[in-house]
Amino acid sequence: MGRASDESPDSRREAMMLQIRNYVGGRFVDGASTFPDVDPTTGTTVAEVHEADAPLVDQAVLAARAAHEGPWGRTTVADRCRLLRRLADLVDARAEDLVRAEVIDTGKPAATARSLDVARAAANLRSFADTAAAEGMESYLLEHPGGQALNYALRKPLGVVAVIVPWNLPLLLLTWKLAPALACGNTVVVKPSDETPASATLLAELVEEAGFPAGVYNVVHGRGAGSAGEFLTGHPAVDGVTFTGSSATGAAIMRAVAPRVRPVSFELGGKNAAVVFADADLDATLDGLARSVFANTGQVCLCTERVYVERGVFEDVCAGLVKRAEALHLGAPDDERTTTGPLISAAHRAKVLRYLRLAEESGAQVRTGGDVPDMPDALSGGWWLRPTLWTGLTNADRVMRDEVFGPVAGLIPFDDEDEAVHLANDTEYGLAAAVWTSDLRRGHRVAQRMDVGIAWVNTWFLRELRSPFGGTGLSGIGREGGRHSLDFYTETTNVCVAL
Ligand code: NAD
Repeated sequence: MGRASDESPDSRREAMMLQIRNYVGGRFVDGASTFPDVDPTTGTTVAEVHEADAPLVDQAVLAARAAHEGPWGRTTVADRCRLLRRLADLVDARAEDLVRAEVIDTGKPAATARSLDVARAAANLRSFADTAAAEGMESYLLEHPGGQALNYALRKPLGVVAVIVPWNLPLLLLTWKLAPALACGNTVVVKPSDETPASATLLAELVEEAGFPAGVYNVVHGRGAGSAGEFLTGHPAVDGVTFTGSSATGAAIMRAVAPRVRPVSFELGGKNAAVVFADADLDATLDGLARSVFANTGQVCLCTERVYVERGVFEDVCAGLVKRAEALHLGAPDDERTTTGPLISAAHRAKVLRYLRLAEESGAQVRTGGDVPDMPDALSGGWWLRPTLWTGLTNADRVMRDEVFGPVAGLIPFDDEDEAVHLANDTEYGLAAAVWTSDLRRGHRVAQRMDVGIAWVNTWFLRELRSPFGGTGLSGIGREGGRHSLDFYTETTNVCVAL
């Protein structure tokens, strides 16, 4: 994947192992070293990834800088939106290739990659093209006291933006940042997760085919600390960093950019709560709740890990959620019965298993799961975990405080609305919450009291792409989505002309 610009005649090794290269200044480039790309469903290496060292990251940033100062800097917002729409069409046309890339890297069901990751990638590109075209980069008039001056404001791109993304929804999260960055006239250097390098690399082929000038989109591969991620965020010619990932990495990136005082946009971790009132439509609630706990094997920043249930329906909700957890089918991505893939890596499963032990040490009752399932031989080397539900925990227990990022949740009863709000807000995170009730006045009231970036009522993961997205506390800094993204990816100059 990623044609080498200096194609070697010795293609034997290439034929044996997919090669995933960096993309710099419009060329696919080898790295000085490689690291393995592992299929999480089997634990086998499926590709060699070319790692970018500091000089290659430097080349990528300089290529982005040159493109920004070159023809890209002279494009209009209409030109850029046209290219983004063309790219969205190519994502649709190559959807199955992108689905394969996501499946190989993440192990998620192909149906999920198709309907969620790839479909949303195209939607992201179109939505930001529409928003940028409607909002424009142009001036708006401001009234001046006494009428003695004309004021207008110009949006200008930041310049070179570092885009650093995680492994859980690789293409979806990449395009969520790429589309507004490019619509605003920036150039980008993307650093995908070392676990999921394939889709960002394949996207480079589509970016080229769509007609974006060389250097506008660059991809460097590697890990974070001491590798491509750190080389990129510490680079003096990077004008802004947009990052999705863990809160700890957000803090490290903040330290890296602090000496140069560059803007950052952070979409970080969550420890999201669901609050279920006794008046909720239980069947619909349980379906939504189960999705919110187990979607993508619990590896979505928005997934619910804390479930607070009004005492009168506590046992019914436990039983209904256990039933839905046990109905999930863990299996191969192409098997139509599969609802649930593996965890992303051996290291991540080891971390989740540590939390499983910790929950038991805290006195949790394991209502279902809590261990590694027996899988068919072909899948036995993968990083599988049984969906797990606990009761008997309190908010003081570590598993109810730390983000686990797996198919797990703890259920705790509450007695009244104030207690539910207190329990849900009792966290250092503030990304999302879901309130389940058939009393809409209560729904509004409780949702408004949640200290989070997004509060759902009787739904979960339903997103209008122009609405603001982000978190409070450990869950992030800033909001993206629609014009909120345009605010981050531009600087504004006010011009004041005396009349
Ligand atoms: P991570 O923070 O370990 O890595 C994310 C990216 O940052 C990767 O590309 C990684 O290589 C890079 N990175 C790591 N250390 C770095 C450093 N010092 N400098 C520069 N780059 C560095 O996160 P992850 O494990 O890939 O993803 C899971 C996390 O992402 C979870 O915490 C999840 O909640 C969060 N997440 C948040 C959102 C959101 O929108 N809020 C969405 C998805 C995932």
